[in-house]
Amino acid sequence: MKRILITIIAAFAAFAAIQAQTPKYVFYFIGDGMGTNQTYATIAYNRAMGQPDLNFWSFPVKSFITTNSASSLVTDSSAAGTALSSGTKIGNGGCGMTMEGENTVSIMELAQAKGWGTGVATTVGINHATPAAFYGHTRSRGEYDALSQQLLDSKIDFAAGSAFLHQRHSELGNEDWIARAKEAGINVYRGKEEYRRSDGRVIMLSADPKVTDDLPYAIDRKPGDTKLADFTSAAIDHLYSHYAKKGFILMIEGGMIDHAAHANDLAGVIGEVNDMAESVQLALDFAAKHPGETLIIVTADHETGGLTMGYGEYEMYPDQLAGQKCTKGALSEKIAELMRNDASWKEVKDVLRQNLGLWDTVEVSPRQERAFTQLYKEAFLDKDVSEDRNLYSIVGRLASEAIRYLDEDKANISWSFSDHSGAPLPVYAYGVKAEAFGTVTDNTDVPKTILKVTRIVK
Ligand SMILES: [Zn+2]
Repeated sequence: MKRILITIIAAFAAFAAIQAQTPKYVFYFIGDGMGTNQTYATIAYNRAMGQPDLNFWSFPVKSFITTNSASSLVTDSSAAGTALSSGTKIGNGGCGMTMEGENTVSIMELAQAKGWGTGVATTVGINHATPAAFYGHTRSRGEYDALSQQLLDSKIDFAAGSAFLHQRHSELGNEDWIARAKEAGINVYRGKEEYRRSDGRVIMLSADPKVTDDLPYAIDRKPGDTKLADFTSAAIDHLYSHYAKKGFILMIEGGMIDHAAHANDLAGVIGEVNDMAESVQLALDFAAKHPGETLIIVTADHETGGLTMGYGEYEMYPDQLAGQKCTKGALSEKIAELMRNDASWKEVKDVLRQNLGLWDTVEVSPRQERAFTQLYKEAFLDKDVSEDRNLYSIVGRLASEAIRYLDEDKANISWSFSDHSGAPLPVYAYGVKAEAFGTVTDNTDVPKTILKVTRIVK
């Protein structure tokens, strides 16, 4: 009898311990433009290539959220970023500010008030819509100077991005903002080689000072180029070294999934989704060392491109993308370079072969080859720059047609347009209190649930 009683008491104690667990370390991933199909296309590709499945696909808790903004059923990144940072719907184009001009309250601000550490990291500009929605408040997301200043004035412990984006007509550039950050006493590190554990706040940027826009796409990356995982591991090191006791929230954005999707470039998208998953793995490795204290959320702000699985046939062939070695933009630049050198069709064909696998691993129909040679003739021989067509757009058309052929006619995966759609999105949750995310139904529920389970707001 006594033994039974002890067993019951021990079971209750264990149950109470689980109940009492509160996440102390929160990783909040946002795949910009990462709809369900962007995720599934990546999974289908990885499986076709014999690569591991996406780590977050098998998270134990999944649910769906709606994404509409206050002004539209189809959101932009700043309105969605604000919903995900504050739980408040605002109009498209604003950043951390309602249409009435009131500042929203970010979970980062509430966490800071409780003594938690906070961080943001992204592949795009450090003052771009999604990260800025976590620390900034402007009527327009394009007010990059105001957002840069607000980042410097904020209490964000660790902020990382490609660079400070330049505001149109502003005299201030990336270097000016770096100087101002240093004047404000913030440690600025370029790339993982420079990063070191330090007291005080940290801003981390691309190792390459020539990067003033986004980081290079994952599939265009060269050795030494800065990547999201560099930021993520530095962020974990910095935040854990200062806030092991109090806890921290780190928002990590795969910001260029969206850009590759705007360009209707599926191999580019897959590269970016897998790239964000590399950072998710770092969070999972951290969780393995801190079980019972870590929560990982992966979600998205909106879908981009209206990506469709299948194209007129009951089959997809993701393996056809295996030969694509660069993004559409990088391919376009390679073709532009050939044009400056008056290259022959054979030379252009070789570039398409080397960079996309066309005529090599991917069969090209005679009809399609005629379409390519026609575009080559217009751009390289006729120099057809009449009306609204400039040389760059014709070069772009050759690259675009090559990628369209690969995506639609060969991989059987098609795009509806090059903008955002209003598709609902998944939320994947792992770790302590992950189950609380099983019932979220709107993007504004996600930060509210984070605040509740962490007890930052009771
Ligand atoms: Zn977008």
